[in-house]
Amino acid sequence: MKKYLKRLFVISILGICLTSMMVSLGNCQELTRIEVLFSPEQGEEILQTLESTIQNAEEKVYILIYSFTLDELAEAIIDKYEEGVDVRIILDKGQAGPGSWIRRVLQQGEVPFRTMDGSKGGYMHLKVLIADDIVLTGSYDYSKNATYSNDENFLIIRDKKILEAHLVKFDQLWEKELSVVSTEIIETKQRAPPDITVYITNTGKKYHNSGCRYLSKSRIPISLTKAKQRGYTACSVCSPPS
Ligand SMILES: [Zn+2]
Repeated sequence: MKKYLKRLFVISILGICLTSMMVSLGNCQELTRIEVLFSPEQGEEILQTLESTIQNAEEKVYILIYSFTLDELAEAIIDKYEEGVDVRIILDKGQAGPGSWIRRVLQQGEVPFRTMDGSKGGYMHLKVLIADDIVLTGSYDYSKNATYSNDENFLIIRDKKILEAHLVKFDQLWEKELSVVSTEIIETKQRAPPDITVYITNTGKKYHNSGCRYLSKSRIPISLTKAKQRGYTACSVCSPPS
């Protein structure tokens, strides 16, 4: 009888240990998911991942990038900003200087961006995209060479701690650049954070709230600032914010 009880005791302890191990493993899988892609074999997949991650963002897209020469990504970023999502970009000063393609494109799209040298005079060499709760990072720059020629790595990270660490780093660099007095930065600051989204139509000259009856035929999201800049005025039926 004693022997039987002892065995029962050992078995139940083992059972508890195994169960708690499985529970904690399950939790880990839920919290952390990391995938990796490599260029040049998966270069196009990397590019597509970047594009779709930007397109799917609902709240924010923060980017730190050294070299940026890809048209399709610039377009996705500008579209996202026009939707009213909080989009901000920090670029390396040497790569995105006056006269550079990316600088011109972002300025035309009115996307808030800053250029900087590295904190200690080196390069701003980070390659990070934060979209809502996803972090995309690795050696991959936003260029054709990185996509098709170079050997690069690219990590897709869903992890709270990694996300928070990158948000802190982004904020540090964004604020650091703010302390430098330059008209460009002040202008960018005034534009951010992006305002609420209103809706325009293909033909009308008014902007509307989401539920307005005038939006039955076409319904194009646009930021309030942009709508006003383009000469749209508030609809008198749904009276959107002005
Ligand atoms: Zn309306």
